[in-house]
Amino acid sequence: MDYASSLLGLLPGARRTPGLRDLLANVATYLPPDQVERIREAAEFGATAHKGQKRLSGEPYIAHPVAAADILADLRLDADTIVAAILHDVIEDTPIAKGELAERFGPAVAEIVDGVTKLDQIKFKNREEAQAESFRKMLLAMVRDLRVILVKLADRTHNMRTIDAMAPVRRRAIARETLEIYAPIAERLGLYKLKLELEDLGFQAAHPQRYRVLERALRRARGNQKEFLGKIAAQLRTAFGKAGIEATVETREKHLYSIYRKMQRKRSTLADIIDVYGLRIIVGSVDTTYRALGVVHSVHKPMPGRFKDYIAIPRVNGYQSLHTTLFGPNGVPIEVQIRTTDMHVVAESGIAAHWKYKAGDMSVAERERTRQWLSNLVELQGEGSSEEFLESVKVDLFPDKVYVFTPKGEILRLPRGATVVDYAYAVHTGVGNRCVAAKVDRRLAPLRTVLRNGQTVEIITAKGAMPNPAWVNFVVSAKARSAIRQYLRGLRRSEAIELGSRLLNQALAEFKSSLEEVSPATMQAALGEHGMKDRDELYEKVGLGEQLAPLIARRLLPSMPEETPSGMPPPLAVAGTEGLLVTYARCCFPIPNDPIIAYLSAGRGIVVHREDCVNVEDYRKHPEKWLPVVWEANIERQFVSQIRVDVVNKLGVLAAVAASISTTETNIDHVSIEERDSELTVLMFEVRVRDRKHLAGLMRTVRRMPDVLRVNRTIAAHSPGKARS
Ligand code: MN
Repeated sequence: MDYASSLLGLLPGARRTPGLRDLLANVATYLPPDQVERIREAAEFGATAHKGQKRLSGEPYIAHPVAAADILADLRLDADTIVAAILHDVIEDTPIAKGELAERFGPAVAEIVDGVTKLDQIKFKNREEAQAESFRKMLLAMVRDLRVILVKLADRTHNMRTIDAMAPVRRRAIARETLEIYAPIAERLGLYKLKLELEDLGFQAAHPQRYRVLERALRRARGNQKEFLGKIAAQLRTAFGKAGIEATVETREKHLYSIYRKMQRKRSTLADIIDVYGLRIIVGSVDTTYRALGVVHSVHKPMPGRFKDYIAIPRVNGYQSLHTTLFGPNGVPIEVQIRTTDMHVVAESGIAAHWKYKAGDMSVAERERTRQWLSNLVELQGEGSSEEFLESVKVDLFPDKVYVFTPKGEILRLPRGATVVDYAYAVHTGVGNRCVAAKVDRRLAPLRTVLRNGQTVEIITAKGAMPNPAWVNFVVSAKARSAIRQYLRGLRRSEAIELGSRLLNQALAEFKSSLEEVSPATMQAALGEHGMKDRDELYEKVGLGEQLAPLIARRLLPSMPEETPSGMPPPLAVAGTEGLLVTYARCCFPIPNDPIIAYLSAGRGIVVHREDCVNVEDYRKHPEKWLPVVWEANIERQFVSQIRVDVVNKLGVLAAVAASISTTETNIDHVSIEERDSELTVLMFEVRVRDRKHLAGLMRTVRRMPDVLRVNRTIAAHSPGKARS
């Protein structure tokens, strides 16, 4: 059947649905007999599974998937794709599960069918153009195997062919979705024939009246056009003959939907558009395309600015051709495409040509040609195999993004790896700052959950909730990261102010004074001396360790004391909740009940060490940098501590020790093996404990194990600089 004419409605009458016999004959032209048999089995299996189900048209259901498979057979796709097309509605509409498909027809078929089923579950709701674009990308991003999309497109194509059986309202919605989503996807994948058919059927169903009027007008115009183009084509054939170039010259007909869109876009009349004529010239090799171009330009003058070289720079979907527009007789523009046979194959079936290549049963010449254009494409894409080429197409098609739905059905685009928190910040900074939990596909999910394409996400916020500094470690979007950082900077500042005033009070207490007793005038003078604008700035600097509390305190006293008072100031209480400005040294891992002392680190607040930590030796050299601290009473949180366990070197001993630690209701943060020889292994555990009592209990438990030789709390001899993390 003349495909183009049937699209244009030039061949009257409905198309006969291709049946199983047609499909088997079709695949037999390019697949080996055992694969054809496999396809027949799949059809039998599908028919049994769908038994009793009917299409709206009244046909048995299996007629639909078989027809869809036939569309893919026209593209000469591999057997897995054909089988998957036959079974594409089986998971959705029958009790058959993915596992059974995998067992009977292999994992590839099961994956494709599963992918199609998942695509069917997301629905296009919004009509805006931006949404349509996002939706298309989401569909593409959701599939791991492009064959899923090919099956989906075939499914849609057959549904469009039989759309008359549907109620008019439904018909229009489906047609719109076809025009806005599926036809552009087919185009993007280079499936030119499918794209044309989807557009034509979609246009007809969405705007039946306009379609009829346009079709009639076009048919009237065709007569003259054919004659005119025939003359030009003959002229070119003669010129090619003289130049010794072997070329096929075809006339190209404009398609209804593209004419309609052009009329809308350019607000022009049908006459303006229909007066553009098209020719296609197909030659044998790449350099012949350029020679043919020269011949064409010598016969008719080219229009300036209209030449495009898609051979040197192909379109993203792999399309290659030279485009030029000629001044025809009476100045009528003639659009000309020049390409090789291989490029023509790609132009018609695009990405599907890849599986054609895989299909095996091709003539040697044909296989060589396909291999060549594939490798040509690969070359253009840089080095690599055809698989890598596909991968690069995928990267382009599936940018590094995930697409998820808001509860209202809007689509949000996030970077790949985005978590619930990224989503919350993408909705609104305020939502991000106050989020406490989330529902992903209506199920509660942790905030660090990585989102997948097509999920619906709902954020639960709470008044007074705050961002957690730990979020910075897992968010991936710039927006979330900078919002959290900004919030933390603010928080850090207020924490620094609070800590600074406590440090000053502590230093003043040594002189039996306090900030309250400092007169405004004295404060003002001290601020002026240091070039600071207010108290908060002073407290912040002290809190951050940029100014030393004892020195400032002295300046704030009514009169300078004659002598340095003896002993240390009263200790500062720490609770472990200060977070940003009070941290716990990772050389000695202090925990509540440990005697402690703190190091004042310029710009970073204070670091708490155990008094017996080797790094505290630094105290003798810089006493002004150290300050006394004590634990607050009743601390609720857990602290990280570290123990060293010497064990007999034996299989499974690490697991045994870890298991025994767990029996004391202790979480293990980290394990490492420090030393190992034939007899002894040293294990280092970082554990979370409440206090010394908890740790002591844990150490007792471990010590009782038969293969354990020694258990110690560790004090590493790190350098002081290193300890201050
Ligand atoms: Mn279907």
